[in-house]
Amino acid sequence: MPKTYLAKALRTLSLRDDGKRLVEPIARKLSALPSSQVNTINKALDFGWLAWAMRGVRVPPGRTAEYIADLRRAAILCAKVYELQRPFSVSAEGWDERELRTVFEQAERVSRGAANPGYYLRGSFWGFSNHSEREWIRSAWFAAERLVRLGLRAVGIASVQVNGGASRTFFERYFGTGGGMQYERVRKVLRKIQKGMWHSSVGIAYQGMGVPANEQYRETSGSLGVPVALKQNLDEWGWSREGRCIGFGVSFFLPDQTVIERTTPHTVETLNMEVSRGGAVLHELSHYYAKTADEIVPAAAFHHLGRAPEGNVQAYSPKVCWALAQTNPDQAVNNADSYRSFCEDAGTLWVI
Ligand SMILES: [Zn+2]
Repeated sequence: MPKTYLAKALRTLSLRDDGKRLVEPIARKLSALPSSQVNTINKALDFGWLAWAMRGVRVPPGRTAEYIADLRRAAILCAKVYELQRPFSVSAEGWDERELRTVFEQAERVSRGAANPGYYLRGSFWGFSNHSEREWIRSAWFAAERLVRLGLRAVGIASVQVNGGASRTFFERYFGTGGGMQYERVRKVLRKIQKGMWHSSVGIAYQGMGVPANEQYRETSGSLGVPVALKQNLDEWGWSREGRCIGFGVSFFLPDQTVIERTTPHTVETLNMEVSRGGAVLHELSHYYAKTADEIVPAAAFHHLGRAPEGNVQAYSPKVCWALAQTNPDQAVNNADSYRSFCEDAGTLWVI
């Protein structure tokens, strides 16, 4: 179930000048709590029958009871997450906007501090995803970690393997035959992703089906750091905003669309994406931590595919990555989906 009341509280914070800076640290805090505790907080923000819950509350002219209720939810969320003490724990009905500001200020003072290494779910995830979707991200994160590890192992083996060895075949399929330097370049990118996953922290944003049409909740995702209204993302599986966060769109969350991990190697016969969720996380982290790009497919690669060249097509899918590697290995070692495809294959190598 989406956490409806948490969504209301986060939305309220995100729309206020004195509250928007709290959304990110609160989301980080929630990510470190057991899910039962997050459920308890969500329930505490459910006031039941609104008219009864709002008895005795003075609703200012031009405001609605729902508006005041959402302000109270935002304040209670701050108080719960940061365990703020009196006077905020008393008489929730009595809070007015002036007191709420004090809650926000107090929360902001205690909200500073470094994030734990790994990932955390951003406010959009807490407000709008369902339980399965949060579980998929968790499994996909660990799958990505494993795929990077197996990718590094396959590079190591490929670099000393004779022609025709499985690891070497997969390596050359996605990165070409650039000699010893090519192994080093790929290894460097994979190590950067691994180091980032182990020692840094990245927020993950949600743009799946759970986001209602015309949602008002605002989240920072653009490169300028301007908070924008959250929307479902029908165009991209995922995206990465440098130094800020990564996020996933509707396709990533469609239940029948994909798996957490692949069990068979890519065939390189179709133009299908054949993407796993672990692979999709790895793809975005390669942008985020190793500054890879979605390379533009060069004319030579189109010829290799037996197709007429097109402009501005990005190199996605194992088959396109294969054509890129055979025609322009320098681009292949900078292409995010080449790492995704290679590591997914490395993850299926039972016998090296
Ligand atoms: Zn990409």
